[in-house]
Amino acid sequence: MAKLTFTGGIHPYDGKKLSKDKPIMDIMPGEKLIYPLSQHIGAPATPIVAKGDRVLRGQMIAEASGFVSSNIFSTVSGTVQAIEPHRVVTGDMINSIVIANDGLYEEVEYDAVNDIGLLGKEQILERIKNAGIVGMGGAGFPTHVKLSPKEPDKIEYCIANCAECEPYLTSDYRRMMETPEMLIEGLKCELKLFDKAMGILAVEDNKPDCIEKLRALTKDEPRIMVKALKTKYPQGSERQLIYATTKRAIDSSRLPADAGCIVNNVDTLCAIYNAVKNGKPLMERIVTVTGDAVRSPQNYRVYIGMSYSELIEAAGGFRTEPAKIVSGGPMMGFALFDLDVPTTKTASALLALTKDEVSRYEPTACINCGMCLEACPGRVMPKALAECAEHGDLERFEELNGMECCECGCCSFVCPAKRQLTQTIKSARKIILANRKKAGK
Ligand code: SF4
Ligand code: SF4
Repeated sequence: MAKLTFTGGIHPYDGKKLSKDKPIMDIMPGEKLIYPLSQHIGAPATPIVAKGDRVLRGQMIAEASGFVSSNIFSTVSGTVQAIEPHRVVTGDMINSIVIANDGLYEEVEYDAVNDIGLLGKEQILERIKNAGIVGMGGAGFPTHVKLSPKEPDKIEYCIANCAECEPYLTSDYRRMMETPEMLIEGLKCELKLFDKAMGILAVEDNKPDCIEKLRALTKDEPRIMVKALKTKYPQGSERQLIYATTKRAIDSSRLPADAGCIVNNVDTLCAIYNAVKNGKPLMERIVTVTGDAVRSPQNYRVYIGMSYSELIEAAGGFRTEPAKIVSGGPMMGFALFDLDVPTTKTASALLALTKDEVSRYEPTACINCGMCLEACPGRVMPKALAECAEHGDLERFEELNGMECCECGCCSFVCPAKRQLTQTIKSARKIILANRKKAGK
């Protein structure tokens, strides 16, 4: 049988063996936690606490300030020390709530339910919204918005993104191996919102143990199927995942819901279950701390708000001086220059590598080999787009469908001339999006 996949893509070294067999470990936070008010797409949350206030674990400290926004919760009990700008993984300074941890972990009472079946659609959505859940795969799009399409009856597939195609990342793998029931229950909560939809657990075929486990656990679930996908980067990218599982294509002008699909990643679905069943807000996530520069790579259950430096410390520190530190995966993550940044709802990994494959080579002239074109899953022309971007020709950039680029990094990865294609294209896209926003489009 032909394998489920998409056109283009690459096969980078996956590095997963460093942390794949490391069970999820809990680590406790230190004295100070930082909660940026923007850890989601949309308007920043508004603080509802002030300096000096005592807070409990699970207490809302910042409230969504619009429909596309998200609530933020304290993950410890303690005192609000400050509300001030703090650096985040992107390098930006973001207004943040700083909480001094009192080490007592006193919690609010959660509104758990015994039987999810008794909840109506509105109640399920409300619980997800109140819990401050956002796309935890990196996008940070508020989940209650994603789960409120204009025409819910047209949703035919709820796809669980279990691909985890980024090299080195193993947090989803560990979730699937250790708490698959939570993932499945999260998907079932989502299916309650869409009467006509089927659930798909979409897993790359380099995780046969997960596929087997999920198939066994869902064999009596008529609305859920497990689909094995060809292992190829970026299989977990939303458009590529939708195409591989349903053969439906979308572009940047259409949402997955326009093609009858809703996609959520593993951690997000687990958070949905925790919110709907246990009434718990989003306070933790699984983070892979890995790379050949890390002494003891590990998967951790992390309190949101902890510093990245605490995660590295927990993993035994650096084995050797890293050449590159990345928040997220090596293909789409953010290069870090400072570990004094907080973990947020979207932080999937902390990666420290001894070799920086990108900056150790000087780019040379294009040799017109066409490899970038062949690798591009967005079916655009990376070389031509990068040239437009370099010359500031944004009009031509748009004509060449530059906005269809998903910033996956495949073109830069394959380019023998080591041209920084993705970075250049990404900058042009950022300017165009900012211009559109300014023009109110
Ligand atoms: S142009 Fe964009 S979508 Fe195409 S390979 Fe490069 S980064 Fe990926
Ligand atoms: S891969 Fe690099 S060298 Fe080859 S065509 Fe693209 S930009 Fe030019």
